[in-house]
Amino acid sequence: MARYIFNEQVSCPNCGKKAKKATERWWARHDGPYTGNLKIIRRQTTAYGDDDILTLWDGESYEMYCGNFCTNSCAMDFGNAAYRAGYRRS
Ligand SMILES: [Zn+2]
Repeated sequence: MARYIFNEQVSCPNCGKKAKKATERWWARHDGPYTGNLKIIRRQTTAYGDDDILTLWDGESYEMYCGNFCTNSCAMDFGNAAYRAGYRRS
């Protein structure tokens, strides 16, 4: 599914868990030194020690694993509860 990006730290509508930072990865040895505008919030070496992985973040974007929800399970729970509460699309 498409990424849902939020410009604030929203919470899962089903369980209340907070959204994670919407980050990008950069492989510093493969891609070269990072020179973009994003902040480097984490730097780690691969398990094989063959590259350095940077985690990049713009400082404001958040995302959930499953659209508006933190997990597929929360999306299903919420969908079933909405149906039981009478919600219909057609
Ligand atoms: Zn949830």
